[in-house]
Amino acid sequence: MKAVMIQQPGSVLLTETPLPEPPPGFARVRVKAAAICATDLEVVDGNIAANYPLIPGHEWSGVVDSVGSSEDQHWVGKRVIGSNDVVCLRCDACRSGNWRYCDQFEEIGFKRNGAYAEHVIVPVYGLCELEQQVSFEEGALCEPLGVALGTLQKAGAAFGDTLLIMGAGSIGLCILAAARAMGMRRIVVCASSSRRLQIAKRMGAYAVIATSEQDLSTELRKLHPEGTDVVIDATGIEPCIQTCLKIAKKGGTVVLAGYGRGKIMQIRIDDIHINNLRVIGAGNNWNMHKQAATLMADGIIDLKPLITNRMPLEDFAIGLQMARMRPQGFVKAVFML
Ligand SMILES: [Zn+2]
Ligand SMILES: [Zn+2]
Repeated sequence: MKAVMIQQPGSVLLTETPLPEPPPGFARVRVKAAAICATDLEVVDGNIAANYPLIPGHEWSGVVDSVGSSEDQHWVGKRVIGSNDVVCLRCDACRSGNWRYCDQFEEIGFKRNGAYAEHVIVPVYGLCELEQQVSFEEGALCEPLGVALGTLQKAGAAFGDTLLIMGAGSIGLCILAAARAMGMRRIVVCASSSRRLQIAKRMGAYAVIATSEQDLSTELRKLHPEGTDVVIDATGIEPCIQTCLKIAKKGGTVVLAGYGRGKIMQIRIDDIHINNLRVIGAGNNWNMHKQAATLMADGIIDLKPLITNRMPLEDFAIGLQMARMRPQGFVKAVFML
């Protein structure tokens, strides 16, 4: 099969690899769509724990074409999305539903081969059927949407809460879509430049703020005169996190939903202590795929505006470069197979 392979950090190529056979309990999915995620660039660059050589890709959809156990035969031919979590299902963490805390946890696209390929091997216990009305390309975005749903759940975000989202990348925009669906109020999306804010506006942000042009706290005071209940950082960038801690209302919630790339950062503890902030980590969001797929199938969440570029696997270098450079209007590129 054709696959995009990271041989070692910095070296990516399109190769022909043997068609993988699913072991018992696993399914082989004929990939139909695989989205490029900013995290994949971290894998390409060697900034995240991964097993090389590796086929990356954790945002995918497809059709099951083979299974490793006869009792899973009914999955063959089904349109699916699924969890990337490979776990033991037997330890205390797994049995309490906390798969990501399993000692044997391995994630597809990082420790195991992912979906930048014609086929991917995934565990049957994580599969979820994708209804006909959701396209494969949109289905691939159930993964980042699941991250957004998990983030809002961890935040304890509620109907009617005011929200500021720092960052208009795909996670920020997925959080916007999910927050609107759950009835959060006066959702403001903030980014350094206005490049991606048009898409945020189109996806229903109440207001957008480009910090290169406007002062965030001044604008926010006008938009949320009673304070911002929930502030979500979807950037992982130090000054953005520092700002988030300053602008949340007293007693409000700040959610860290961006990858900090191992960086040690300076924060003013008094911003948290004096203002009684709840600071929540939301870096591990799992088992939300089914909810994500249902919200799309019901027409409650529409992520089509996020898909700005479609391409074959052969154009992987162009796709990765676009994800890195983020040209005007670009949000997400999807490999269509
Ligand atoms: Zn991702
Ligand atoms: Zn386990």
